Parts: sequence; structure tokens; C-alpha cells
Amino acid sequence: MKRIGVLTSGGDAPGMNAALRAVVRMGIHRGHRIFAFYNGFRGVVENDSAEMYNRSVGDILTRGGTIIGTTRYPDFKNPDVVKRAARNMELLEMDGLIIIGGDGSFRGAIELQKLGTNVLGLPGTIDNDINGTDNTIGFDTAVDTVVGAIRKLRDTASSHGRTIIIEVMGRKSGWIALKSGLAGGAEAILVPEIPFDLDELSHVIESGMARGKKHSIVVLAEGVMSANELSDKLKEKMGVSANTVVLGYVQRGGGPTANDIILASRLGARAVDEIASGNSGVMVGEIKGDLVASPLEEVIVETSIIDPTLFHLASYLVH
Ligand code: ADP
Repeated sequence: MKRIGVLTSGGDAPGMNAALRAVVRMGIHRGHRIFAFYNGFRGVVENDSAEMYNRSVGDILTRGGTIIGTTRYPDFKNPDVVKRAARNMELLEMDGLIIIGGDGSFRGAIELQKLGTNVLGLPGTIDNDINGTDNTIGFDTAVDTVVGAIRKLRDTASSHGRTIIIEVMGRKSGWIALKSGLAGGAEAILVPEIPFDLDELSHVIESGMARGKKHSIVVLAEGVMSANELSDKLKEKMGVSANTVVLGYVQRGGGPTANDIILASRLGARAVDEIASGNSGVMVGEIKGDLVASPLEEVIVETSIIDPTLFHLASYLVH
């Protein structure tokens, strides 16, 4: 029987609750005791935790957000604060801590491990910017949300013959823009990983209109530039003004898709077994359908990993 902690950290993502539920229920099924720490690493530092039971995670499977809270907690970059967290884990006799979050959270986990705490990461972020897993928990839902918005905007764009620029999340990663742009039939997709050419973009829009296209939809990852900036550039270039829509936090919300729930449930259940068997300093992800544990240092990506074949496919299909 082990004592295992769990927390959610960084940006919230749909499916975090499903992962928490899987950790708690699989943990209890295996005979362990599971403790939730509230509001990310802050809960470990301030000793804000509670034991979880099967009923504690009832009715959360399809709920967005995270019931145990998350905070951006920059203090955790201070080594003295990490020391306090490690000391609390020792005092509470925790055998390990499962961290559901993104790359920032994994950096915090690595620091905590250096001081003797067993840590295990689960990829929970809408951005899909983590190595060692094909999809992060929340990404599929975010893409669905954006595609839903594109469909609605397409109706109004084609009625008015408009160009609409839809700005989506992704400071360093173009995954949300790429997949939602492909699924939404966007005329152009702009991602931080692949430089774009204003001449080419205006040509795509103008030639589409000349061929009788009723609208042009440009999906823009926020890391490239803002929608307003792009709109100004297009206006200067083509003399046509585009409408801009910034989707913002709506992309984080909503109940998780079935795919995200299944991913979160599989990863959460495996996380318990990995950490209970002493596997520390790894993240559990899913690669080509298999659950794989990879070292935390290796999953934190500096440069993003979008699939260029999908990017090119999207551009061929809109002509
Ligand atoms: P995400 O996990 O979604 O990438 P953040 O980048 O905000 O989100 O990171 C989440 C939290 O992880 C931060 O608020 C902080 O508490 C902790 N963290 C991030 N980077 C580090 C670091 N280099 N060292 C220690 N803790 C960190």
C-alpha cells in the first residue's frame, strides 16, 4: 500500500478531471491511499491537501476544468519554496506525486525530484506541445471547440463574402491552429513553426475570391502575431479589411471529448501503477496507441513538433 499525491498545475485543460478520477479510483482499486493537493504546487507548499475516495471524484468525468484547482505559481521557481514542498511530502510520508500539467509543471516536478520526491507527469494541456505523447489531455477538446467556432464564422463569412482571421491559442506550438484549420477547411493556417509569406497569403485569398469562393478563413496561432496585426498587414497589401475574432479562453473550457476522456482514463490508471512501482521522473504518454513512460527531461520540448505533412495537406485541399 502506497501513499500517492496528485495535483493539477499550469493552464487548465478539459479531461484533467477524468485523469484525476482514474488516478483516485485505480489507486484505491490497487489498495493505495490517494491524496489531492489543491491549486497545483501551492497545495504542496502550503500543505493544502485532502484524502480522496471513490465518491470524491463522482460526477466529474465529463466536467471541464479541474475540481482540485490549478494556479500559476511562479514562487515555485525559488529553490527554498521547492525545499518546503519536498519537506512536506516527507512529513506526509508520500511515496510519490502525480503532476497533471504542461511543460512548466514538469520543470517544477524535476526540481522537486532533485530533493528526493518521487514524481510522475501526465500531459494535461490544450496545446499538445509535449514530446512523448501523440496527444495531450485537452487537445482534442480544444480542437473541437475551435472547429465549432470556425463553422459558425464560416456561415457569416460566406453570407457577406468576408475574410475572417481567427486567432487561436498556441504561443510556440501551431497544433491547435493546424488541426482545427484542417478540420474546419480554413483557406490559410499560420503557425509559429513555419514562416509565412504575406504575398503568398494575399494571393491565396485573392485568387480564392477570383475563383468564386464566398469567404476566406485564416486560422492564426497567437505566436505568429495578433489577428489585428495581420489584418492591418492584409489591408495594406490588398486594400481589403478582414474581420478578426480572438477565441481566447473559450478554447480551454467545456466538457472533454470522448477521446480526451479515454486518453485521460488510460494515462491516469497507468500513472498509479508506474509510481507505485517506483518509476519516478517520467511522464506517461500514449504513442501510436501504446502507453509509454518517457523521462521528464525529454518530453519538455523547446521547439514544437507539428506534423508538416498535415500542414501541406491542408494547403492542397483548399484550392
Ligand atoms: P504549464 O504546466 O501548463 O506549462 P506553467 O508554465 O504556468 O504551465 O507552469 C505551471 C507551474 O509550474 C508554474 O506556475 C510554477 O509553479 C511551476 N514551474 C514552471 N516552471 C518552473 C521551473 N522552471 N521551476 C520550478 N517550477 C516551475
